[in-house]
Amino acid sequence: MESPSYSILLHYSEIALKLKNRSHFEKIFIQNIKIHMQGLEYSRIELYAARVLIHDINKDIWDEYKKRLEQIIGMQHATLVLKTKTDLEQIKNAAKLLIKDKNIDSFRITTKRNDKSFEYDTNDINKYLGAFVQELTNAKVSLKFYSLNIIIEILKNYSFVGYERIKGFSGLPAGSQEKALSLISSGIDSPVASFELIKRGVKLDYIHFHSYPAISNQSIENVKEILNILKLYQLKSKLYLVPILSIQQKIMEIIPDKFWVIFFRRVMLQISNIIANKINAVALVTGDSVGQVASQTLSNIRAISDASFLPILRPLSGSNKEDIINKAKKIRTYDTSVLPYQDCCSFFVPKHPETKAKMKDILFYESKINLDDLIDEAIINIEKVNINIKDNV
Ligand code: ATP
Ligand code: MG
Repeated sequence: MESPSYSILLHYSEIALKLKNRSHFEKIFIQNIKIHMQGLEYSRIELYAARVLIHDINKDIWDEYKKRLEQIIGMQHATLVLKTKTDLEQIKNAAKLLIKDKNIDSFRITTKRNDKSFEYDTNDINKYLGAFVQELTNAKVSLKFYSLNIIIEILKNYSFVGYERIKGFSGLPAGSQEKALSLISSGIDSPVASFELIKRGVKLDYIHFHSYPAISNQSIENVKEILNILKLYQLKSKLYLVPILSIQQKIMEIIPDKFWVIFFRRVMLQISNIIANKINAVALVTGDSVGQVASQTLSNIRAISDASFLPILRPLSGSNKEDIINKAKKIRTYDTSVLPYQDCCSFFVPKHPETKAKMKDILFYESKINLDDLIDEAIINIEKVNINIKDNV
């Protein structure tokens, strides 16, 4: 007998809610899937009843597909399936094929009936197929502790019988929203903050400030490494590397040390606004989490934000460190984030930084310093790096 042809059935999450723009989101979702699947075997990708099907995959390397599928933003879950006609006998045959090489001692059947006009309801189908599989394998039915979950989806013309459902991150397809510029350090927080917005479909470019050559270029190398991981989710982006040593030196010359970090951060925002305007980004992103360090008290957040025209998105503002660390591990940026590096700000941090800056002090000192020429010079010396998933495959 001819060997069966396997497909992958993908469910997307919130695209389903976007009634008006649905086809726009679906198009981007499918374009992304094609890039994620590059180098892996399949015949075609089909949109079918608010689902996406990847046809004729090579089941022998399912683990490879799995790894890639997990990274597709906007995906709720994906299942390895056989496609059949919506007919109980044919569904039964598909189930038989599916478990042919499986050695199982327990299983369950999970049926979802989309086509309510189908003559059997989920209970009937579960029972009928359950009895069939039990007889075929001698395995017992167990709804909680099973070694195999046989998944059935009943649609109007075609139905699907499968197993090995893997969970995605859900959200909106990467790159389906407008652009924002993410301020990225090589710490733990800003890569996670970036990911949270990639997950909302925001198109991110990145900006990193460094004090090379006063400190090593390790932060730059680490940021590039982190972006090589984030490009698994948002497939291409740009990184802007900005030298700010001379600006920092001038700040340290003129401003009292307790305000240094606030002024460093204000300059970062000023430069980020200029770059954002040039690249049509309409918001900035940072990894701030309230109260985590001195620069992240509410007063200091206010004193820093005041330097930005563009809205600043801070997806981690209410997150606990432990949760941020767990997320960093899950998206695989953690190991790089904990590599040693010197940060452009912490390197010059005074012993007693201001924790409750007053706007009147900030504005007073700002009037004492003119950084315009140095900012222009930093912008001229920006190095741009293209980050693209295609450079790896
Ligand atoms: P992270 O773990 O992201 O470094 P953090 O908890 O160490 O954050 P800070 O170092 O105070 O906190 O940085 C707050 C935010 O400012 C960062 O999340 C990032 O968005 C931005 N930021 C800090 N340093 C840099 C830098 N060198 N280049 C670009 N952005 C930076
Ligand atoms: Mg940091």
